[in-house]
Amino acid sequence: MFHSGTRFAIIGAGPGGLSAALALRKKGYSNIEIFEKETAAGGKVNSYIYEGKPYELGAILLTANFHEVKKIADEFSIPMRNYHSPSLVDEDGKIYRFKDWTGANFSKLELIKATIRYVWLSVQEKTQMQVGLEAVPDSLTLTMDKYICMHKLEPLSHPMEPMMVGLGYGYFKEIPAAYIMKLFSLLFWAKLRKALTFGKTSLSTPVHGYQHLWQTVASSLAVHLNSPVEKIEKDGHCWKVKTVNGTKTFDQIILSVTPDISANLLPEIPQLARLAKEVRYYDYQVTVVKIDNFEREKTWYLRKNRQRDQLGQPIAITSPHPDANVYMVYTQTDKTINEDQILTNIKLTIQQMGGMVTEVLTHKKWRYFPHVSGKTIKSGFYEAWAGLQGRDGLWFTGGVFNFETVEHTIQYSNHLVNNMMTQQNHLNQSESKTLMLRKFSPSKGKGPVTHKIAK
Ligand SMILES: Cc1cc2nc3c(=O)[nH]c(=O)nc-3n(C[C@H](O)[C@H](O)[C@H](O)COP(=O)(O)OP(=O)(O)OC[C@H]3O[C@@H](n4cnc5c(N)ncnc54)[C@H](O)[C@@H]3O)c2cc1C
Repeated sequence: MFHSGTRFAIIGAGPGGLSAALALRKKGYSNIEIFEKETAAGGKVNSYIYEGKPYELGAILLTANFHEVKKIADEFSIPMRNYHSPSLVDEDGKIYRFKDWTGANFSKLELIKATIRYVWLSVQEKTQMQVGLEAVPDSLTLTMDKYICMHKLEPLSHPMEPMMVGLGYGYFKEIPAAYIMKLFSLLFWAKLRKALTFGKTSLSTPVHGYQHLWQTVASSLAVHLNSPVEKIEKDGHCWKVKTVNGTKTFDQIILSVTPDISANLLPEIPQLARLAKEVRYYDYQVTVVKIDNFEREKTWYLRKNRQRDQLGQPIAITSPHPDANVYMVYTQTDKTINEDQILTNIKLTIQQMGGMVTEVLTHKKWRYFPHVSGKTIKSGFYEAWAGLQGRDGLWFTGGVFNFETVEHTIQYSNHLVNNMMTQQNHLNQSESKTLMLRKFSPSKGKGPVTHKIAK
């Protein structure tokens, strides 16, 4: 791959950057430095500790299929606890069970048929299981609602929609199936495993908070906290990384930040800016509040707020510790809605549900779930990124390349280090024949132009 003394800089100490560093270290490299703009590592894994208990402002859960996160947790001896998933209820307090919803709307036979169709599709389309989003079949570029309809997956998929909106992954009418099916496959196989192990819980979370895991990983690496990278400049065969604390020189750079940040750091690469312009985000706020007179053993998914015209209204409320009256409230929002408005909406909604917000402890607004439209996927967005990987020693990882979960992000970083970086020509012969890499042509939008990317 590279000579053993190669100097690597990684930008961003979220799960993407830190897992790339671990993978490089496993390959025997030791000159690895990570630059993080915040005062702590973790990125969108961010724990707020209140009265000794962690409340997650970012990622919370692992399913049984989060193998990569579990490997890292094991390696660093991070204790995990089962996450007792409180009953899901809608705003009227009605328990919202998958089997009740399906049972009321579909027969058992229809459910079995949809399950078989789903398993068949995941074998056929592979994309759901493989790392990355290159060469996605055209059907997966349809929005999720159309994909469900096309493959008659309603008995399986429709109960998932309020949950997906609640988790901040947007609306089935807007999001290409390629993304949702990646998440769905993790949840589906975890559920199946739960059924096969006779109900052993499939959800877990680190005992001391999710961020503790990543801070422990970071403490084993050379991480420069409080070091926002301002610019990355070419210097002969090397790269100069400029931070507020000075400039350092590296041979290889891995950017584990969103594409717009990468484009700003590397203004001399116009293709980056073109690709970054295509990426969409959701504004997603997590608010930690104390509530009196409210049940703790429930996670509320407020179905009436799951439409786009309800932006700024809370969509999910959960209490992670049954012995504390502290709740996390999730809200899809946008730039036009200010924080005061969101807090007012939360208080009113909870009041209407019979509770009373007595204190707002903290809140955090994220620019969440980087993704592109189906048309952009079809026009070769991901293949264009693949073509950029490794050029002049620049590499890219992060949520947009696979899917916005910790597990998918680690999978992609591992793939980057273990496959793409190992074989400079990371697409092998047979793959490249079938992939017929497509040229990115966003403005024309006439679908893919077949073309092999020259490295
Ligand atoms: C509310 C919420 C709930 C979630 N729930 C789950 C869940 O239950 N399970 C799950 O698996 N995932 C969940 N996720 C998603 C998960 O957190 C992300 O997929 C994951 O953190 C992405 O990792 P990343 O490294 O790509 O990006 P990030 O975590 O965003 O890390 C990027 C890092 O780059 C740093 N950075 C940015 N600019 C610069 C710069 N100029 N210089 C230096 N550093 C810079 C940032 O500060 C950040 O630390 C959730 C996320 C949110 C917000």
